[in-house]
Amino acid sequence: MIRDSYDVIVVGGGPGGAVSAWFAARGGASVLLLEKDRDIGIPVRCAEAIGQGGLQGILEPDPHFIAHEINSLRFIAPDGTRIDIQQTDEVGYMLNRRIFDQELGRKAASAGAQIITHAYVSGLIKNSDSIRGVKVRFPAAEKEIRAKIVIGADGVESRVGRWAGLRTFYAPKDLESCYQVVLGGITVDKNLISLYFGNEVAPGGYAWVFPKGDDIANVGIGVSAAMIDGINAKKHLDQFIERHFPKASILACVSGGVPSAKPFKKIHGSGIMLVGDAAAHASPLTGGGISNAIAAGRLAGEIAAKCIADGSWNEKDLSVYTRMWDKRWGDNQRRLYRLKETVFKLSDDVFNKAAAVLVSIPTEERSIKKIIATTLKNNPKILLELARTFF
Ligand SMILES: Cc1cc2nc3c(=O)[nH]c(=O)nc-3n(C[C@H](O)[C@H](O)[C@H](O)COP(=O)(O)OP(=O)(O)OC[C@H]3O[C@@H](n4cnc5c(N)ncnc54)[C@H](O)[C@@H]3O)c2cc1C
Repeated sequence: MIRDSYDVIVVGGGPGGAVSAWFAARGGASVLLLEKDRDIGIPVRCAEAIGQGGLQGILEPDPHFIAHEINSLRFIAPDGTRIDIQQTDEVGYMLNRRIFDQELGRKAASAGAQIITHAYVSGLIKNSDSIRGVKVRFPAAEKEIRAKIVIGADGVESRVGRWAGLRTFYAPKDLESCYQVVLGGITVDKNLISLYFGNEVAPGGYAWVFPKGDDIANVGIGVSAAMIDGINAKKHLDQFIERHFPKASILACVSGGVPSAKPFKKIHGSGIMLVGDAAAHASPLTGGGISNAIAAGRLAGEIAAKCIADGSWNEKDLSVYTRMWDKRWGDNQRRLYRLKETVFKLSDDVFNKAAAVLVSIPTEERSIKKIIATTLKNNPKILLELARTFF
C-alpha cells in the first residue's frame, strides 16, 4: 500500500538509488524508492567491472553477484602494441549487475524502504524553491506523493535535477556515447580486461573487452559525443568486432550515455539531493560510475536520515552533502577530468611512442604507477600536456 507521504522518496533503483534508500531507512527515515522499469537491475546498461574498494563497507564480495575476479589489465595502443599489467595491490570484479542491483534493492527493502517498480516519476511537487514530493505515473494511475526530502538517483538522463532548478547540463564533450554488446562464441582470458585506444577505434574514448567467462564478454565502445563525425558508437563497434571477433555471435546489445564531466557545483537544494550519474559522479576518465554512485548514495542516505531526525531539511541543512562530496571526491574528479582532457586529445603517434617505451618495462615490474612515471620520463610531449593540466 502506497502512502500519501514519506520522509524520503528516492527516484531511481540503480546502485545510487538503492544505497540511498538503504542508508536513509537504516537511519530511521520512512523511505519510498520509485523505479520506472519493471525490474530492479534490468536492463543492464553497463560493462559490469568494479574495483574491490567500491564494495568496501557495503557488500562482502559474493559469488552470487560476482562473475569472477579481474587481476590483469591490457592497454592496446593504436598500432596494436599491448601493455599488460598485473593487478597486485587491488583486484577488480566482474559483476552480474542484474543480481548485484537486486541485492542492493534487497538490502534497502530489508532496512525498511518500500520499493515500487513500474513507477515513473514525471515531475516534482514544489513550494517556491522547496521540493515537497513527486508526481508519479503508475501503469493504471497517477499520484502525487509528498516527501520531506527527494533523492534524485535517476541516472545520466536525469530530469529530477533540472526540475529542481539545479544546473545539471552536460556539454557534448563531457558525455560519452556508448554502445555495447554481449559477445558469445569467443575465446578470452576471463581474468583479463582489455582497453583499446586510437582515433580510428574510438575517437575521444576507448573500446573495451570485459569477459564474463572464458567464452563470453561485454564488448563495447565509448566515443566522445563532441567527436562523432558521421560514425556513431555503434558503427565504430561494428568495425571493432569485425576486426577482432569476426566469428562471434551477438547475444545482447545496449546503448547509453556516460558522463565524463567535472563535478556539478551544487547537487542539493531545499528538500533535494542528487546522487550517482544524475550528479555527474562517474569517473570523467574511465566512465566507471558504480562505486561513486554507491558512495554518494550512502552519504546522501545518511544525511537525509540525520536531517529528518533533527527536524530540518532546508537548503542550508542539505548543503553539507555538496560540501562533503566535494571535500572527499571533488579534487580527484577534477584531476581525472583534466587528465581526460589531455589523454583523449593525444595523437595516435604520441600514444604509439609511449607504448613502445612501456613494453620495454619487464612485465613483473609493471604497475599503473610505474607506467605513468615511465611515460612521463620518456615522452616530453605527454609530460608537457599533463603539466598543463595540473598547473
Ligand atoms: C555501456 C556502459 C558501460 C558501463 N560500464 C561500467 C563499468 O564497467 N563499471 C562502472 O563502474 N560503470 C560503468 N558504467 C556506468 C554505470 O553503469 C553507471 O555509472 C551507474 O549505473 C550509475 O548508477 P546510478 O544509480 O547513478 O544510475 P543508474 O544505474 O543509471 O540508475 C538510474 C535508475 O533510475 C531509473 N529512472 C530514471 N528516470 C526515472 C524516473 N523518471 N522515474 C523512476 N525511475 C527512473 C532508471 O530506470 C534506472 O534504473 C557503464 C555505463 C554504460 C552506459
